[in-house]
Amino acid sequence: MNAYRGRFAPSPTGPLHIGSLVAALASFLDARAHRGAWIVRIEDVDGPRTVAGADDDILATLAHLGMQPDGPPVWQSQRHEAYDAAFERLLAAGFVYPCGCTRREIADSLLNTHTRHATLAYPGTCRDGLHGRAPRAWRLRVPDGDAARVSFVDRWQGLQSQDLATEVGDFVLKRADGQWAYQLAVVVDDDEAGITHIVRGADLLDSTARQIYLQQCLGVVTPQYLHVPVVTNEDGEKLSKQTGAQALDLDDPVATLATAARHLEIDVHSALSLDAFYSAATAEWAKRFGRRQ
Ligand code: GLU
Repeated sequence: MNAYRGRFAPSPTGPLHIGSLVAALASFLDARAHRGAWIVRIEDVDGPRTVAGADDDILATLAHLGMQPDGPPVWQSQRHEAYDAAFERLLAAGFVYPCGCTRREIADSLLNTHTRHATLAYPGTCRDGLHGRAPRAWRLRVPDGDAARVSFVDRWQGLQSQDLATEVGDFVLKRADGQWAYQLAVVVDDDEAGITHIVRGADLLDSTARQIYLQQCLGVVTPQYLHVPVVTNEDGEKLSKQTGAQALDLDDPVATLATAARHLEIDVHSALSLDAFYSAATAEWAKRFGRRQ
């Protein structure tokens, strides 16, 4: 083992499917290629989306497919104190403020502005006070001007850049329903686990600049990122239970893993055992993303 620490962080909204398996496999192969540690974190911070039993099901499937984590899994639902502590630090440093806007008010005020942004950035209505309204959510203040641009080099996707002020706006850390936002939980958890390399689906590319900015506010290290292409259905939608993801074929683990590997542009069709599959796939991955010696 060396200093490399990677992770797979599934949301327990249903069983593993080919889309989430591709993310799991990519993070596992990257850790193996670097002779590093790999852990699993169950992202059940979003209580209403969590499906009872899905966590155990995902962990059992990973084990069945030969992906054993180096250490016990972490459940976000048990980490509220850590999120609270990080939030209090941000509050004390003046980075967060309460917001009284409803979704409808935000949508209306965006319609009234003449600016046209690619995404709907929060217009900053409550930045300077609640205007007599009750606090609902808590937002992180993003910088203005040149300081709003966050850039990073993704190991698969190349140079990425986002202007937090115009493309995102001040973003929510604690939601109106009292739930912690994914953005805060993921940054706090990755830091506490000492994660050095984040490998996950490209649907999260758009969140990465927010997470890097949050790391800077908290004074913690920014890991390296690699975002793998998402698996889509015939209509080009990200695969999920709602968009028609099929159950994995667990009777033939090697064939199922070989299918996931093909989405990562790795061809391992002749492996006869799990060991043979992982050796060949890790060697292929290492050729592209880092040496295995
Ligand atoms: N829980 C997120 C998901 O399942 C992944 C978060 C991450 O890898 O940072 O989409």
